[in-house]
Amino acid sequence: MRVLVADDDPLTLHMVVYRLQQWGHEVVTCRDGEEAWNILQSESIPQVAILDWMMPGLDGVQVCRKVRGQSGDPYVYIILLTGRDDTQDLIAGLEAGADDYLCKPFNLGELEARLRSGKRIVDLQAELIAARETLRVQAMQDPLTKSLNHGAIMDYLHRELARAGRDNLPLSLIMVDLDKFKQVNDTFGHLAGDYVLVETTRRFHECLRPYDAIGRYGGEEFLIVLPGSDAEIAMKQAGRIQALLQEEPILISDSAIAITVSQGVTTWEPSCSEDVRSLINAADNALYLVKSSGRNGVEFIAYDHAKQTENLIVPRHDI
Ligand code: GH3
Ligand code: MG
Ligand code: MG
Repeated sequence: MRVLVADDDPLTLHMVVYRLQQWGHEVVTCRDGEEAWNILQSESIPQVAILDWMMPGLDGVQVCRKVRGQSGDPYVYIILLTGRDDTQDLIAGLEAGADDYLCKPFNLGELEARLRSGKRIVDLQAELIAARETLRVQAMQDPLTKSLNHGAIMDYLHRELARAGRDNLPLSLIMVDLDKFKQVNDTFGHLAGDYVLVETTRRFHECLRPYDAIGRYGGEEFLIVLPGSDAEIAMKQAGRIQALLQEEPILISDSAIAITVSQGVTTWEPSCSEDVRSLINAADNALYLVKSSGRNGVEFIAYDHAKQTENLIVPRHDI
């Protein structure tokens, strides 16, 4: 473990550090509370802090309070070293946020045992954080393509549209739908269809910048959000997607599956109202135009124009 030892007494510091290193820990040291507090805010934050109660500047209890006053990730397990063995003092130390304490002079075996129980808590904490992170990703991810799911891409769009409004920047949307995908399933089987969805998503990602986002909007339909992109950039992006799919068919066993897509593009400009629904409708209408004129292409509909034609949307299964 990475352990911070803060003590203004050089002898105690030397002895504790020597032992901790013998027990295989990585040790960081300091002689006062201010420095301890700085180390506990740094990037490579120690998992355990052994803090002397009495130190110049901030004392150990004050450092405890500051650490616990911050948000709790990652958790630092704090052991107070103290010459005070008055029960009221110990209660005050624990209430300030210490997890454990050792009264000086202390037994090294006891320090080792208390560090072991600290490690159990720290490990448990790390497991909980990892599990929470996995759940967070799962809640946002489409399990098949690993792109964002419908809810997550819509959240992203809402957030980015609000940001575009604040920053006075354009934002573009591309609605992409695989052409005649039902035939792929019917001809090559559903599993091959699944693989095609995975591979097309991978190719979409190849074309995107790190701050663009792609989400599975529905079955074989994807929504791409391009923050900061005007209509020209978005149309170029759509052209790249078109080219990257046509360049090479998708290979599965002995089959080469040629995939084309239809794309509807729209752009929000800072002068427009911030209305996600109308923006989606614009991209959807543009996609409808491509589908109705033979598929495998890109169309653009300006967002304002889309607002006027909102009621004209025809469900795509009617095409
Ligand atoms: P169009 O060019 O008009 O879009 O035709 P299409 O066949 O792509 O569209 P349609 O809406 O008729 O069919 C979509 C198909 O996509 C039907 C559905 O079974 C398939 N599909 C949706 N989700 C998945 C999936 O997760 N895996 C597989 N293999 N197929 C899927
Ligand atoms: Mg389709
Ligand atoms: Mg579809």
